Amino acid sequence: MRLDDGESAGFDLRGFIGNSLLEWEGHVSAVVIAGGCNLRCPYCHSWRYVTGLDGLERLDPEIVFDLLARQKGWIDGVVFTGGEPTLQPGLAALIRRVRGYGAKVKLHTNGSRPEVVAALLDEGLLDCLALDCKAPPDSRLCAAAGVPADSALPEAVRKTFELARGAGIDREYHTTLHPRFVDREAFTAMSGELDPGGLWILQQYEPDDCLDPAGAGTARYGEADLEMFRTIAAARHPSVLLKKGS
Ligand code: SF4
Repeated sequence: MRLDDGESAGFDLRGFIGNSLLEWEGHVSAVVIAGGCNLRCPYCHSWRYVTGLDGLERLDPEIVFDLLARQKGWIDGVVFTGGEPTLQPGLAALIRRVRGYGAKVKLHTNGSRPEVVAALLDEGLLDCLALDCKAPPDSRLCAAAGVPADSALPEAVRKTFELARGAGIDREYHTTLHPRFVDREAFTAMSGELDPGGLWILQQYEPDDCLDPAGAGTARYGEADLEMFRTIAAARHPSVLLKKGS
């Protein structure tokens, strides 16, 4: 299915980074940040693009193409993130135009819109798919995502993970090691189910400046716990990156 979504102007662009070495391992990338998200993860650090849109100017997507034209050969790729970029009706149109400049494309999604991911993959628009792996896909995921326990989110996320496994492109999986949402048992279950063909990025929870400070709390794992999670992951996954934070 081709997403027939009209113009790239149908993309609520609220942030743009012209040059980043952090968003895509091994790439110099531009970063396109969509406004709005359908989840409310208490520990979210991108809350300005979720609940803080009133304080952010809406940007013209043409700035992406101006940069790609000026820096052709310097920018390897463009990362679409947010917020949640798959909510944007103009996403596919924007990606098609980006690819017209010869840039590779990475999509970072929370996995809640498998139909959008499937259409982008069918059309060959993605070079890398990054998925949040917040918790096992059951009520624990709902808690981590700040949605009701009977939400359809776990089923949707399962489908997106299946798509990623069979996509034949680079995959990244991102897990925030938060004591309220991921304990040893949950993590071991996640490790057993997760596609070992992707890069699994584990990151320390940073309590400062998050979406819901009361819901997220301040407790963090210590260094020994972080290493324990890394060891569990590495037993089954060849590519694991642990970011210990500050
Ligand atoms: S961390 Fe959660 S709330 Fe924040 S942008 Fe990602 S999915 Fe949305």
